Amino acid sequence: MPDARDYLEKRSLERTPEPPPATSGNVNPAVAAAGRTFMVHQHHARSLHFDLRLEMLNGDTPVLVSWAVPKGLPGKAGKPHLAIHVEDHPFDYGSFEGTIPAGNYGAGQVRIFDSGTYEMLEQEDGKLSLRLAGNRLRGVYHLHRTGDQGGKEQWLAFLRKDERPAPDDVPSLDPMLATLVEEAFDGEEWIFEPKWDGVRTIAICGGDTRLLSRRLRDVTATYPEIGDIHRQLVALGAVLDGEVVAFQEGVPSFERLQSRINLQKAHDVKEAMKAIPVTYIAFDLLYLDGRSLVAEPIERRKELLDSLVVPSPAISVSPVVAKEGRALSESVRAKNMEGIVAKRLGSPYRSGRRSREWLKIKVVKDADVVVGGWTSGEGARSASFGALLVGAYSERGLELLGAVGTGFSQQLIAEIQPLLRDLADEDCPFAEDPTGTRLGSFSKALRDPHWLDPVLVARVQFRELTSTNRLRAPAFKSFRTDKEPKDCSLEDILATARS
Ligand code: MN
Repeated sequence: MPDARDYLEKRSLERTPEPPPATSGNVNPAVAAAGRTFMVHQHHARSLHFDLRLEMLNGDTPVLVSWAVPKGLPGKAGKPHLAIHVEDHPFDYGSFEGTIPAGNYGAGQVRIFDSGTYEMLEQEDGKLSLRLAGNRLRGVYHLHRTGDQGGKEQWLAFLRKDERPAPDDVPSLDPMLATLVEEAFDGEEWIFEPKWDGVRTIAICGGDTRLLSRRLRDVTATYPEIGDIHRQLVALGAVLDGEVVAFQEGVPSFERLQSRINLQKAHDVKEAMKAIPVTYIAFDLLYLDGRSLVAEPIERRKELLDSLVVPSPAISVSPVVAKEGRALSESVRAKNMEGIVAKRLGSPYRSGRRSREWLKIKVVKDADVVVGGWTSGEGARSASFGALLVGAYSERGLELLGAVGTGFSQQLIAEIQPLLRDLADEDCPFAEDPTGTRLGSFSKALRDPHWLDPVLVARVQFRELTSTNRLRAPAFKSFRTDKEPKDCSLEDILATARS
């Protein structure tokens, strides 16, 4: 039997939010009167485990007789899981959820995994048989004491009879898509969230985690650091929709993520994981504990998702704001994020469909610019160019706006090379030679640029214009053959940036 003084002795009640005991001593589960309620805590302590607690009476006082179950109660009949009998917990512990602060016994997150009523079917020395009627666990379980190890009483937990209703079919896993619209808006019938600039990924979580790309390719091995997110869910099983994101200075960077996407070899993945760790940002819930949720309204799915995820470096839930899309749009613009997504209240999850119930609004802007030079590439791009140097005309001539190094497909990079050679020019086309200046907050000073005859016009995307008229976070979209270089005016771009 656990030591009678255990509960108090392990805890400093002034330093933990856990409730004080209402009685002393531990009951003998072979003879104590059974109560009605049970619960299972999910305890994210140093190692994740579950705690089964059964209400029993200590004299007249209800207490929770407790077992720590490292893997949780078994979900399949015939496969026993270890359960270690620990100290009785006060009855009030049954409603406890939250954080046990660092430095305390059991420090970490505590969540109620399940609760409900139970019926004691058999009770003798070293053996309990019970029927659990919880929200997640329903069935007949047996607990058998099998011995002591290091003063800890070991039991085995068996599922004897699974009484859960038959599960729903898993819905189609093709992600729902959003329709692009121009302007942010406010609306009573809408919720808004940031648009996460990453890779859309469905996570199938049960006894393990499986990650599927938008085309339903298994990409689990590509992102080992989020390969265990099922452990962060208060669920027997769930299917999540979300985005794999790589952050740079607190903002998702698709550019950084790109170097992770196509890695195949385990060694390459491991190396890249250290340099560029990713996070899973969950924003929808398609299936939970055997029930399909795709017909439920978005607000209900969001609510369930919020209560399901125990945030960690590997997973978090996308924040949502009600009604005020314009304010969110301003705030993501200030953070240099890509845009926002609006979702209509009451709308179901339409697998594989592009609907107007989800609208995406980008805060990035377009500019037409003249290509006046290029920089040598590095790394994978050492055989081609690193960035195109672009500008626009004012009365002073062609003014440099920045270096555009992203947004090019492999094919385009290969195709541009001969063009850059043909257009080579010895003279700098810009009003002021920018050699030696810094072109953006992350780039080095411009060294050894190659100049071009300024005849190419490109459309680029950018987030904003800096105080020194540099494009922030520019990305290439396309070349334009329908616009003259002289018509690319700085004034137009300034007007766009202000809008
Ligand atoms: Mn515990």
